[in-house]
Amino acid sequence: MIYLDHNATTPVDAAVLEAMMPYFMHKYGNAASTAHRFGWVAADAVALAREHVAMLLNCEPNEIIFTSGATESVNMALKGVFEIYQTKGRHIVAVATEHKAVLDVCASLERRGAQVTYLPVDSNGLIDLAELEKAITPETILVCIMMANNETGVIQPIEAIGRLCKEHGVLFMSDITQAVGKLPVDVQALGIDIAPLSAHKMYGPKGVGALYLRRRGPRVKLTPMIEGGGHENGLRSGTLNVPGIVGLGMSAELAAETRTDYFNNTLYLRQMLEKTLLALPGARLNGHAGLRLPNTSNISFGGIRPGGLIKSLSNTVAVSSGSACTSALMEPSYVLKAMGVADELAYNSIRFSLGRNNTEAEIIEVTTLVQRLLESLSNG
Ligand SMILES: *Cc1c(COP(=O)(O)O)cnc(C)c1O
Repeated sequence: MIYLDHNATTPVDAAVLEAMMPYFMHKYGNAASTAHRFGWVAADAVALAREHVAMLLNCEPNEIIFTSGATESVNMALKGVFEIYQTKGRHIVAVATEHKAVLDVCASLERRGAQVTYLPVDSNGLIDLAELEKAITPETILVCIMMANNETGVIQPIEAIGRLCKEHGVLFMSDITQAVGKLPVDVQALGIDIAPLSAHKMYGPKGVGALYLRRRGPRVKLTPMIEGGGHENGLRSGTLNVPGIVGLGMSAELAAETRTDYFNNTLYLRQMLEKTLLALPGARLNGHAGLRLPNTSNISFGGIRPGGLIKSLSNTVAVSSGSACTSALMEPSYVLKAMGVADELAYNSIRFSLGRNNTEAEIIEVTTLVQRLLESLSNG
């Protein structure tokens, strides 16, 4: 089985697991226990992990809040910001191709009186900056635009968006879950005020993530969603998941160290993959050719029965059709729809998302297999 679904999740790196192990076993203290050594050891480990996440994003450690993952971070940020800033305005700008976590929370806020503008994207998956500027009104409190899309890998012009938000005095949240470890993510240079991320998308464990919240210029305020005990500056109560946080910290450290190699290696393999697959009759790339994550390739295969290809592949190659979250429902991907991809092409789209352990031999095997299946499917 060849795994090409790294945008859904990644394996835990051996060094990450090794770093976590002691915190399940003999270093089992509660990071909030201040009266003894067990607690101090756990608190020190959490502090170190916070530093590593902060270094990855170029922010201060006290601007990082640990959560159970990007979905929780998104909920916390959008709901918490709306709660506080709604006296200033009730308008939020998001994009039609955001992750379901963002879109579902936006829908929930709309039921609580928020007004949300969903920016469209062009056929390349990119927003239009002029359209964004037009969408911002005196009522706007927050702009929410992901850095890189999980289905297509398309990268939005984050630095320009950050500048625009600053000019208009609105907060800028960017979901960086797919970008960290693949692209440089410097929240200062990019002007990002709020950013959710998740460990399991960057070779860390599942069920742990973080939220970056700017503390100065401007200081972002939040109403906490989870109360009780006052952990994480009162913003996210509950005993800290020490082993998970240690794992996130280690995966952040490794992400910073390996980013350049990761970029070059996955890009090389992706170019190999695309060279063969995009030459096949009826194949076309979904998403901007250049402004894209190095590891992600979303390709539609025209002229075959819907769903046939992915089903035939499923015993040999792990890939996604659309996003993992929507593929249970037999609906064409909303991301591809927003880019104007026709339904029959969206049904036959495959997301290949490569990782740091994939090899040339695997890519050759996959491209040969797809080629063969396409021939048989179009003949039948
Ligand atoms: C995976 C993903 C999420 C959700 O992350 P979880 O940690 O699984 O909750 C949010 N946004 C993007 C862009 C993602 O790829």
